[in-house]
Amino acid sequence: MPTARRIDCHVHLVGDGSSGSGCWVGMASPHRRLISHVMLLEAGVPPRVLGRDLDACFERRLVEQVRESDLDAAVLLAQDLPHTDRGEPLPGKAGFYVPNDHLLAVCDRHPGLFIPAVSIHPARPDALEELDRCVARGARVVKLLPNCLGIDYADRRYHPFWEKMAAAGLILLSHTGGEMTLPVIEPRFADPRLLATPLDCGVTVIAAHAAGRSGLWDPDYTHELIALFARYPRLYADNSALSSLNRSHTIAKVLRTDVLERIIHGSDFPVPVGGFGPWHRGHIDWRTWQESRRDRHPLQRDLRLKRAMGFPPACETRLDALLSR
Ligand SMILES: [Zn+2]
Repeated sequence: MPTARRIDCHVHLVGDGSSGSGCWVGMASPHRRLISHVMLLEAGVPPRVLGRDLDACFERRLVEQVRESDLDAAVLLAQDLPHTDRGEPLPGKAGFYVPNDHLLAVCDRHPGLFIPAVSIHPARPDALEELDRCVARGARVVKLLPNCLGIDYADRRYHPFWEKMAAAGLILLSHTGGEMTLPVIEPRFADPRLLATPLDCGVTVIAAHAAGRSGLWDPDYTHELIALFARYPRLYADNSALSSLNRSHTIAKVLRTDVLERIIHGSDFPVPVGGFGPWHRGHIDWRTWQESRRDRHPLQRDLRLKRAMGFPPACETRLDALLSR
């Protein structure tokens, strides 16, 4: 039997459309500009390439990141626009946009390195056709942020979408819990209990960030998510962004033997990976934190920190088993 691949399940693709990709990054407010600059610096991309060469530059950095880490592959994410429940796009409410075609093209250029996660708002008039088209081109995962894209998972009109996903063996990687880096349209869609509908339709689901809170005043849903594990054997959670200070409070809640068997490794690149939060909460020692600061690549730094916190190797290979089911 071949050894299982070590996979980061949560890596964002970002672009500026400079290669004709159709991607863009929202820069309308000083707040959005600041967030974009911080993320580009984390990715090792000089912010001055934004508007000139970001598509190619970001792709090169991603390839280097995965190749020079202990990872075998990364799930690379597209980002659809928010839509109304009648399927009208709301580009003014988006933080950034990455069309499926660009994502699939990047994945095609680097076979084996990236696993394509497309993004399709289920209210889109072409949602089912787009799903078929993406599956035919190799999509394995669908990435959605219900609170930022405006998706009510409980809406009965989306049943055919979930059923088609289940039939094609596509995994849903869904944002759960609060969100600080993107505009939120409907905060109550952050509740992981809404995942019951896609799960009941037979979809395997990964709840990103283990449904923890992001901002100080967000509700925290990790407890509710863990309660769902007993009912849904197809439900998993990722540990993405838990190295950051604002999400490090979630680490202790998921480092339990009964919960760890549902955890999948993920970084949330290019969301900055720091060791201060895990150190401050006593999950890693000072030396590990300082050593992690010398890792040039955030994907490797995140992996090092998660290992030191106590996430077992099975978290890194669990997705490979799910993908080969
Ligand atoms: Zn993310």
